[in-house]
Amino acid sequence: MPSANRILNAVQIGTFDNHYAKLPERFFARVAPKTVAAPRLIAVNHALAQHLGLSLAHLAPQDQALLFSGNAIPDGAEPIATAYAGHQFGNFVPQLGDGRAILLGEVIARDGARYDIQFKGSGPTLYSRNGDGRAALGPVLREYLVSEAMHALGVPTTRALAATLTGERVLREQGPLPGAVLTRVASSHIRVGTFQFFAAREDQEALRALLDFAIARHDPTAREAENPALAFLQGVIKRQASLIAQWMSLGFIHGVMNTDNMTVSGETIDYGPCAFMEAYDPGKAYSFIDQFGRYAYARQPAIAQWNLARLAEALLPLIDEDEERAVATASAAITGFGPLYTDAYRRAMRAKLGLDGSQAEDDELLETILTRMHQAQLDFTGCFRSFAEAALAGDGTHAVHPLGTDEIGQAIMTRWHARLDRDARSRADLAAHMKSINPVRIPRNHRIEEVIEAAIRSNDFEPFHRLHAALQNPYQDDPAFTAYEAPATQDEQVAATFCGT
Ligand code: AMP
Ligand code: MG
Repeated sequence: MPSANRILNAVQIGTFDNHYAKLPERFFARVAPKTVAAPRLIAVNHALAQHLGLSLAHLAPQDQALLFSGNAIPDGAEPIATAYAGHQFGNFVPQLGDGRAILLGEVIARDGARYDIQFKGSGPTLYSRNGDGRAALGPVLREYLVSEAMHALGVPTTRALAATLTGERVLREQGPLPGAVLTRVASSHIRVGTFQFFAAREDQEALRALLDFAIARHDPTAREAENPALAFLQGVIKRQASLIAQWMSLGFIHGVMNTDNMTVSGETIDYGPCAFMEAYDPGKAYSFIDQFGRYAYARQPAIAQWNLARLAEALLPLIDEDEERAVATASAAITGFGPLYTDAYRRAMRAKLGLDGSQAEDDELLETILTRMHQAQLDFTGCFRSFAEAALAGDGTHAVHPLGTDEIGQAIMTRWHARLDRDARSRADLAAHMKSINPVRIPRNHRIEEVIEAAIRSNDFEPFHRLHAALQNPYQDDPAFTAYEAPATQDEQVAATFCGT
């Protein structure tokens, strides 16, 4: 129950229209965010607030801090923690749930789309188990920066609406750390693990209610399909194939692709020990907890397919009453992920190199270039960006050498230039197009660490705001932000990333 204090502090920011909280009680636990000692605003995403139709302008910064720390509950919100299960590193956990997240409610944005507004780090819930329900400042800043960078890069993702300091300390392995709350926005928080939660309980009534809910939200056309459960599964498969191809084409490594961290909406969710790869290495894993590289860069498509098979399993009774037929139908859908993904990946990667063709020759050239990048440990983002420069420079005296100036690097570039010359497209056009898909700036790990360090050590949020600004237009050259382009030097390199929430 909300405390009297909190009701007094209720604020009007927009119109909530909460659907999830109207599902049967076993879908969630009602819970109010815990009030915090000294809320202070770090950042508010005004553009996103505007898109969502939230009016924050009439709120003084201190009131916004109350709002985004959970000390004041907006009118119309119905805070709940949602239940879900999940496979964590391959092991099934029948009950996880929002242990440090609270869904405030849903709002309809200006474009008519429905969004969840959720707090992360605002106190314990029924699902907290041994956790404190809190979030430390570092992970909050990381999720804010990386999710907003992903959005700017054009990748489907949850968004960051606000970040606040709580004025309280949270205890983590490293010792006491400043506490913070992230306000997250998502087109929904339904995970593969949400379906698994009810499947594990053989609760078919709930499964059907969840399916209807998810279809209404994400796949309205599936309702008319002959087999709605199958059509929904196919929709999720398609969105995930496209999402993972985008991750791969940007060198993004999620780090914890557990089934509870995979949405059915196709949005990237739960930025924990994620990282953008620097030196190209298919086996690269950054996450401290991913000791065996289960979620390494090149394993992501196979893991996504494995996770989708878990979703298919959960949906079996809704796909067909006859189990054998259900399995055959679902298996065929899961097999379909392979070609969908491979096609999306190859198309994205060829486009990065200015190769628009679908000839085997282009795929072979792509492989040759990737092999070279791996062997020469070239920076993934920087190398592709310089291919755009190379397209413009041509192979004359002022040529650019993305693959190095040695014989092997040059020979591959000669082949690449000859291949481009067979296309009618002008080099200027091509270079501009390549720049529009090969980012010049990504949230590099050492920069994120720098930002977190300054915030924790000196309460200095300037580096956070600067990095955030640098990541807003990641495809545009900008002399103001050249410092954010380069990969880490030997000394700056971040060997491992941590969840640490
Ligand atoms: P994650 O690996 O970050 O996706 O989290 C896995 C599960 O652990 C979820 O059920 C989270 O809600 C829960 N969890 C993570 N951190 C905390 C925390 N500080 N307090 C309570 N639950 C947590
Ligand atoms: Mg999670």
